[in-house]
Amino acid sequence: MTDVDALVRGIVEGDRRALARAITLVESTRADRAATGATVLDRLLDRTGGAARLGISGAPGVGKSTFIEALGLHLIGEGHRVAVLAVDPSSARSGGSILGDKTRMEELVRSEGAFIRPSPSSGTLGGVARRTREAMLLCEAAGFDVVIVETVGVGQSETAVDDMVDTFCLLVSPGGGDQLQGIKRGIMELADLVVVNKADGDLAAAANHAASDHAAAVHLLRRKSAAWAPEVLQASAIEGRGIAEVWQAVGRQRAALAEVGDLERRRAGQATAWLWSEVTDRLTTSFRRDPEVGRLLPELEAAVGDGTVSPTTAALRLLDAYRGLTGPVTERSLPTPSAGSGDEDA
Ligand code: GDP
Repeated sequence: MTDVDALVRGIVEGDRRALARAITLVESTRADRAATGATVLDRLLDRTGGAARLGISGAPGVGKSTFIEALGLHLIGEGHRVAVLAVDPSSARSGGSILGDKTRMEELVRSEGAFIRPSPSSGTLGGVARRTREAMLLCEAAGFDVVIVETVGVGQSETAVDDMVDTFCLLVSPGGGDQLQGIKRGIMELADLVVVNKADGDLAAAANHAASDHAAAVHLLRRKSAAWAPEVLQASAIEGRGIAEVWQAVGRQRAALAEVGDLERRRAGQATAWLWSEVTDRLTTSFRRDPEVGRLLPELEAAVGDGTVSPTTAALRLLDAYRGLTGPVTERSLPTPSAGSGDEDA
C-alpha cells in the first residue's frame, strides 16, 4: 500500500525521493500502481504549470548532456531548481535509456537543486512521452521551476517533446551545408531556438558559418507563433560560453508568446492532444485484447496480405466485432441506447 497522503505531502515539500517514487508509480505498467500515481498527480494538479518547460534535442554527440549540465548548473547558480527528464525513442523499443548512464551530467546529478530522471523504459513512443509529461507535472508540483526535457534527435521523438514544452531548442554542431541538409525540415520548423554548440577552438570559424546558414534557413520556415521569430545562437557547452545567452533567449521567447496569449494557448492545445493520445492508446489496447478481434485477426490479416480482402473492409469487420455487432454478445459489447445502428464513426 502506498500512502498517497505522505507522497503528496513529500512532493509539496520538495522531497526528491517522494517525487521519484511518484514518478515510478505513474510509469508503472501495473494498473493499480499507475492508478495510485494518477491519484497523486490529480491531488497536485493545482500546483503544476509553474515551470519554464524547455525541450532540448540534437543528434547523438552534438553535446546535449554537456550542454544541459552547463545550463543546469548556470540556472542553479541563479537560484532556480532544475529537473531534467528524457524521452528516448530507443528505450521504447529496447528498454535502454538516455540519462541512464551514470557518467552523464555528473556534477548536476550531485547538485542539491537538480533532479534528473531517465526516460521511461517501456511502451510506445507516445506512451513514453505521456509518462514523461506526467513526470514533468510532478516536478512542477515539487517546486522545480525549470524542467528540461532531453531527446535524441533522430527524427521521431522531437514532435513528442515539442508537444510538452514551451520552448524547443535544437542543438546542432558546426558543420555548414552538409549539416544543414541532414536535419529534416519538419524538425527545423519545431525549433524556437537553434544553438550551434562546440563554438570553440578549431571549430569556432565553422560554428560561425553554421550559425549564419541556419539563420538564413530558419528565416524561410513557417513560424510556430507569429509572435516569435526563431533565433540562432552559438555556445560552447564545454567552456560554458553562450549558456547564459541561451537562457536569456528562452526568456525572450516565453515573454513574447505570453504577451499575445500564445503560451497559454499552446499549453491548452498540448493538454487536449495529450487527452486524445491517451484515448487512442487505451482504445487500441482494448481493441487488441478483445477476444472476438483476436479470433478474426489472423484470418483477416492473411486475407489483406494476399489481397483477397481490402484493408478497409477488414478494418470495418474488426471494428464490428469489437463493438459486438458480430459473434457472441458480451456485456462489454452490448450497444448503448445512443450508439445507433453501427454506421457511426468508431
Ligand atoms: P550528446 O550525445 O549529445 O549528449 O553529447 P555529449 O554531451 O555526450 O558530448 C559528445 C562529445 O562532444 C563529448 O566528447 C563532449 O566532450 C564533446 N562536447 C560537448 N560539448 C562541447 C563543446 O561545447 N565543445 C567541444 N569542443 N566539444 C564538446
